[in-house]
Amino acid sequence: MTRASINIGISDRVADYTERFRRFLDDEVAPLEEQLAAKNVGTAAQPHLDEAGRMHPEVWEARREVQRRAGAAGLYAPHNSASVGGGGLSRVEMHHVEEFVYRNSGLGLGLAALAWTEGPNPAIEHCSPAAREQYLTPLIKGEITAAFCNTEPDVGSDVLKMSTWAKRDGDDWILNGHKAWITNAHFADVLQVVAVTEPGAGTRSLSMFLVDAGAPGFRRGVDLPTMMNDGLTGELEFTDVRVPAENVVGEIGDGFALAMSWINWRRMCRGGMDAGWGNWLLDRALSYSRERQSGGKPIGALQAVQHLIADMDADITQAKATSLMIQAQLDELGPFDIPLHRDAPRLISLLKIINDEAFYRVTDRAVQIHGARGLQLGSPEEKLFRVARNLRIPAGTVEIQRNAIARGLLRDRGPAA
Ligand SMILES: Cc1cc2nc3c(=O)[nH]c(=O)nc-3n(C[C@H](O)[C@H](O)[C@H](O)COP(=O)(O)OP(=O)(O)OC[C@H]3O[C@@H](n4cnc5c(N)ncnc54)[C@H](O)[C@@H]3O)c2cc1C
Repeated sequence: MTRASINIGISDRVADYTERFRRFLDDEVAPLEEQLAAKNVGTAAQPHLDEAGRMHPEVWEARREVQRRAGAAGLYAPHNSASVGGGGLSRVEMHHVEEFVYRNSGLGLGLAALAWTEGPNPAIEHCSPAAREQYLTPLIKGEITAAFCNTEPDVGSDVLKMSTWAKRDGDDWILNGHKAWITNAHFADVLQVVAVTEPGAGTRSLSMFLVDAGAPGFRRGVDLPTMMNDGLTGELEFTDVRVPAENVVGEIGDGFALAMSWINWRRMCRGGMDAGWGNWLLDRALSYSRERQSGGKPIGALQAVQHLIADMDADITQAKATSLMIQAQLDELGPFDIPLHRDAPRLISLLKIINDEAFYRVTDRAVQIHGARGLQLGSPEEKLFRVARNLRIPAGTVEIQRNAIARGLLRDRGPAA
């Protein structure tokens, strides 16, 4: 396929998905959101926490109900391959789906209807037939949730230095280690754990295992509260956990490539997410700038405010254009191939850093336009400002993205002077 044939438009499959998603928001999500509001336990975006600092169980259960219903409606896993029961959409199509979902859900319960960190991911598609039946199919149906367990208390960016390890014992593996900063640590039914199986073997030193949350030796640790304040991030401990051979994902030694596949999926999702939320914030900024008065006229009549609005639009448009252009190229290269095409890491990192930095500026301006109301705890602008600040660290910090971009550029030109 030549570059000239790249199509970044909205396909019939996307139009069908978004039409069904819109109806799902009205028919299924809106009543659940009303029921949740009546319980006085916070909202999906601003949940109350339980005594251990975890997301309030009623809020978690409302999200789970949305996930189960979205799974039953075939809306939850459009990004997974059709061969495992997903929607089989391309990355360009997923940009449009994600943009639609984030723009139309805002900070509501509807966001739970599209698989996120807790859902089925491209890496787990490499599991065995037995694990597919036990974990992947229920994940795609929204019946269970997962957690991706890579980071440790002492190791984040420096993935190959992790200390969690697994040793073969007959056909099984025995897993030991301590993971930290894991999203969905408190509730996941299955843990997708990356561990060392061949020390010193570089990018072949790691393997990925599926650990059932009921396995003896597995223990959920403390909540690690972050500025997201959602009660979802915590620690996990594995002590002599026996993992059957059928729960190895891919081959032994594939762990680094599989971890990168999971991480790259999250990086690619930034494009649609930022365009969707960015436009949602822009809509809100436009409405507010028409209502709020200063000096006897709406603040939207002031050039200072108009420029903040224009800068939001410029950042959203630029980041969206980057996402669509790059996701189209990745569709050609194979976004989740193992091994990954050598040009893909630089492209994925460009997508992430441009979107992370643009969205951070967008949320900052959204706060500014709303004045004190933008800073008010619990306002959408304040929440998304915190989200945007957060996004620049997980799934690879912005510095790590710069490393990958420079590495990709310099690689073919010999060592840097
Ligand atoms: C809300 C949240 C959710 C998360 N969810 C998950 C999850 O579900 N699963 C999971 O496994 N992890 C998760 N993480 C962990 C996250 O992926 C790590 O925090 C991230 O990879 C950075 O690692 P670190 O925090 O150890 O920072 P470090 O790696 O210690 O980095 C510290 C600083 O040094 C810089 N730095 C480090 N190495 C380099 C380098 N080589 N070149 C340039 N700069 C460098 C970094 O950019 C950063 O500024 C989550 C984190 C948060 C905050």
